[in-house]
Amino acid sequence: MSYIDTLLARNEAFAHEQAAANTLMPSLPEQLPHVKALIVGCADMRVDPAQLLQLQPGEAVVMRNIGGRVTPGLLQQLSLLGRIGDVSQATPGGDGEFHIVVLHHTDCGITRLADDHDLLAGYFEIDTLNLAEKAVADPDLAVAADVATLRAVPALPAQWLISGQVYDVATGTVRVIVPAAPLRAC
Ligand SMILES: [Zn+2]
Repeated sequence: MSYIDTLLARNEAFAHEQAAANTLMPSLPEQLPHVKALIVGCADMRVDPAQLLQLQPGEAVVMRNIGGRVTPGLLQQLSLLGRIGDVSQATPGGDGEFHIVVLHHTDCGITRLADDHDLLAGYFEIDTLNLAEKAVADPDLAVAADVATLRAVPALPAQWLISGQVYDVATGTVRVIVPAAPLRAC
């Protein structure tokens, strides 16, 4: 059995289970008000937010890239996400508070690129002279920098709560770096 067959067999079991438990979510607009968080995390296979935060299906939108960084590319996707919400005429977390969680981690692969200035400057679409602001080698500082970048995005609702965390791959524990607070003073 090849690996893809293994994955497809797992999916078959999943589909049967979900259908039997009536937990499938066929319509996005009906689900949007129940979404509690948007989580920005790293693509590293060790740091899947669904696992380490024990997310329930439908609980959070997870966006992952290299380093879990707030790049122009990520902001563009956020803007598309906002449009999907608008078109669906539903507000994420419509029945309560909504969180943006920036989740970085220790031993992140992006720290090994810290000396590759041109590559990183291209990723962040900034001049290499400004790379220090992105604190690529230090996850605590990087989380704080990305929270600050998101706070400065006027399109994001002021009352949304934002926080920054660092997951320790050695202990399995998430450390709060920036406690949850509204994006901007309402
Ligand atoms: Zn990483």
